Amino acid sequence: MLQSVQIQRSKLVLVVDDQELNRDVLGMILEDNYRVLYAENGQEAMEIIRARSSELSAVLLDLMMPVMNGYEVLEAVKSDEDLKHLPIIVLTADKSAELKALQMGAVDFVTKPFDIPEVILTRVARIIELSEGRQLISAAEYDRLSMLYTRNFFFEYANRLHLYHPDQKLDAIVLDIEMFHSINALNGREFGDDVLRTIGDEIRGFLQEVFGIASRVEADRFDIYCEHQEDYRALLQRFQDRLNRYSSKVSIHLRMGVAQWQEGAEPVLLFDRARAASGMVRGDFQNPLMIYDEEMRKRELLNQRLLNDLRDAIKEKQFKVYYQPKYDVQREPPRLSSAEALIRWQHPELGLISPGVFIPLFEGNGLISMVDSFVWDEAARQIAAWHRKYGVKLPVSVNLSRADVFDPTLVERLTRLVHDNGLEYQDIKLEVTESAYTDNATQLLDVIHTLREIGFQIEMDDFGSGYSSLNMLSSMPIDVLKMDMKFVRNIDKSEIDLRLVKLILDIAKYLKLNVVAEGVETEGQLALLRDSGCDLVQGFFFSRPLPAEEFEKLLVREIEVERRLAKNDAV
Ligand code: C2E
Ligand code: MG
Ligand code: MG
Repeated sequence: MLQSVQIQRSKLVLVVDDQELNRDVLGMILEDNYRVLYAENGQEAMEIIRARSSELSAVLLDLMMPVMNGYEVLEAVKSDEDLKHLPIIVLTADKSAELKALQMGAVDFVTKPFDIPEVILTRVARIIELSEGRQLISAAEYDRLSMLYTRNFFFEYANRLHLYHPDQKLDAIVLDIEMFHSINALNGREFGDDVLRTIGDEIRGFLQEVFGIASRVEADRFDIYCEHQEDYRALLQRFQDRLNRYSSKVSIHLRMGVAQWQEGAEPVLLFDRARAASGMVRGDFQNPLMIYDEEMRKRELLNQRLLNDLRDAIKEKQFKVYYQPKYDVQREPPRLSSAEALIRWQHPELGLISPGVFIPLFEGNGLISMVDSFVWDEAARQIAAWHRKYGVKLPVSVNLSRADVFDPTLVERLTRLVHDNGLEYQDIKLEVTESAYTDNATQLLDVIHTLREIGFQIEMDDFGSGYSSLNMLSSMPIDVLKMDMKFVRNIDKSEIDLRLVKLILDIAKYLKLNVVAEGVETEGQLALLRDSGCDLVQGFFFSRPLPAEEFEKLLVREIEVERRLAKNDAV
């Protein structure tokens, strides 16, 4: 104990302040732990610094002083190769001065009137420790385009604010430009640069009004770490308004994610959250602001958990394939014509989880192929098993995800599946969601062409939920159109919806495509669809997706109905 105090005491600190009172207060605080030298202005300070630079551990520097002020001292020290590593802590009452001093190379600041002694002592000790480890904050670096900090400097600085000024509650804001790459591609880099400059400009303007720092951390992503704002919508609007000057040429949309200060949460975590929040509103021009909240936090924890649990889940067979029937409604009574395989996750602790929760998550990182393979295997095995048992071969469609389409072994995977189970190609149908068609057109089209040539039937899933238009249909390699539920939902209430459905059915007929209506829940919907010429219907009206054992009962009932009807026909 005694030894450590002695070591501390041997360290030399310089206090520079023109006010005697300030020097006295700091002296009282520091003298128990350090040897302290004093200077009344910048000039005196520079003399001491030059003479004793090798002994000095830190300088506490006032900014406003006669003869030579603190900024000049900073400049003199930081431009001198031999002195520039000397840690300088500025003493100030003015927030904008803090920033300027830090930009000029100060390592930290102490606010006046002085904090409680413990705080100052800790801060000085920390700074000395850091400087001895040579982990000093680097000199401020700017991105030349936006004139905001570079990413590295920004995070170094943000961490420092978080560490030494926990009392300053700062929020993390992420600002993104929608489709920046196309703005660049369509209007040229010069134009793109100008947009980035304009945003940088507005952010700097904002930071003159409130305490904070900012960076262009990626091509089109800006991070701002600043005092809490009451109205983030207004702030986003402020930045958006600046961009409206380009509106005669191109409309540029910003989106914003915010993560608010939280006790102990480091800047990196806050910015991760803000980025996640911003990601949630990607492409949502109506509602381009998202504030990270408790719900998102829970959602993220859940996602993390599901990602962790995935491998075990496959090993322990927690995934279950459910089957939902599709009925041919142009026959009377409607007949079972095929089924769709839909995955469920029977989680040991979380219960039954629907694919809407985990499919998008696994799509994001390629794990989906594992899940899909499992479903395909299971479905193929099941078709073969029912065939052996009842002598009927009920076709089952399986869902393909985007990642499957990019998988170079897809065709091989699927053909092997058919052969290994003694099936034919038409027994397994492939559902590909509409948005996949618009996303990666050429590669997808190549793969789909190949699959169709082999003999697989392709169903376009969720038709009408994305952006493809009716006239694109004629050039698409598909056999069946699955009309998105949103068309069906209101056909018994809205004349327009009904007309739309009829139009889709007409075009499909013209293109010789079968149509499946999804999400049919009522008898009324069913009647309208049947009378409009829709071939196949899937939905809760007939049955919810069922576990294999229960679907099997439904299958047996249908086989009996079929038999009875055949017998009647024969009579
Ligand atoms: P989808 O392929 O469009 O499947 C239809 C969804 O509509 C299913 O939701 C089904 O349960 C639901 N549904 C069926 N009839 C009705 C109805 O009458 N009313 C309402 N409100 N809903 C109905 P589910 O099973 O939750 O699946 C959601 C989506 O997850 C699927 O949409 C599909 O895109 C995806 N998915 C499911 N299983 C798999 C899989 O094995 N692999 C991949 N890649 N995606 C899957
Ligand atoms: Mg589907
Ligand atoms: Mg669908």
